[in-house]
Amino acid sequence: MSTRRKFLFRSAAASVAALAGKNLFAANHSPVINDPIVISTWDFGKEANAEAWKTLGSGGSALDAVEAGVKIPEADPNNHTVGYGGMPDREGHVTLDACIMDEQYRCGSVMGLEHIVHPIAVARLVMEKTPHVVLIGDGALQFALANGFQKENLLTPESEKAWKEWLKESKYEPVMNIENAKNLPGGPYNHDTIGMLAMDAKGHLSGACTTSGMAFKMRGRVGDSPIIGAGLYVDNEVGAATSSGVGEEVIRIVGSHLVVELMRQGYNPKEACKAAVERLIKRNPEKAKTIQVGFLAINKKGQYGAYALQKGFTYSVKSNKEEKIYEAESKWK
Ligand code: ASP
Repeated sequence: MSTRRKFLFRSAAASVAALAGKNLFAANHSPVINDPIVISTWDFGKEANAEAWKTLGSGGSALDAVEAGVKIPEADPNNHTVGYGGMPDREGHVTLDACIMDEQYRCGSVMGLEHIVHPIAVARLVMEKTPHVVLIGDGALQFALANGFQKENLLTPESEKAWKEWLKESKYEPVMNIENAKNLPGGPYNHDTIGMLAMDAKGHLSGACTTSGMAFKMRGRVGDSPIIGAGLYVDNEVGAATSSGVGEEVIRIVGSHLVVELMRQGYNPKEACKAAVERLIKRNPEKAKTIQVGFLAINKKGQYGAYALQKGFTYSVKSNKEEKIYEAESKWK
């Protein structure tokens, strides 16, 4: 912009701001106090949010909050889709995927990590202590052990029983939503993930995403959850997004990054999630009818929204104003 045009722009903007009773240019320098908020996928996000809130509600950072929050389902043996007690792959190994991203575009990820209850904490260390973004398998384990993490058996008797039951027919047919899977004979053969997004009192955004992936997946399979841009993306200028569901389809459209870019173009969080779901359907229409994928997003104003392929995708919200579980709108009922 030429100096004269810059001057005209600033004068015009200043007059508009003056009319609105605001000092536009000073506003950039004054400290902004935001209302903290944390949102996460599924009903089990509620307990995770409560943990995150201990940090957020007392002025802590969004990054610390999301790490603390998702550790709750990671350590819960009754949650069969995240961390300890997660369903194993078809060879009986519990392999975990997790990633984390903060307001400075820093990110860390682990893929196919075994024997460690809190992959999210390892992902954060990858971000903070290494020159890399992703560590996989044995290398990720070696790094975790070198940093004081303990080696544990993550396969609980319940998950082992379900896996042995599954081996009898060995049919890879993921079930859509955990809520619908509870009554199946032989246990919950399914998938889900905790994706958590938070905004702290400084208005900074961070996110975390952690999962045991698809139950009875092939050994070595990695889904969307630990892939920055697919299962999680945070852009502190715009907003953040995360996903749950069949990761292969999310990776194909780089789902979470797409949602954030749509918000950058002016879509509100729900519209952005909906447009990403529509894109996914367009890319693979037949498959999209038979699987579940849901996106969850938040923008810099603290507005949030979600949208899924199928009915049944829920998400949990905690702020000073509310503590609630919502069901997302969906393409198909
Ligand atoms: N997105 C996860 C994966 O593909 C599973 C899920 O969230 O349901 O591993």
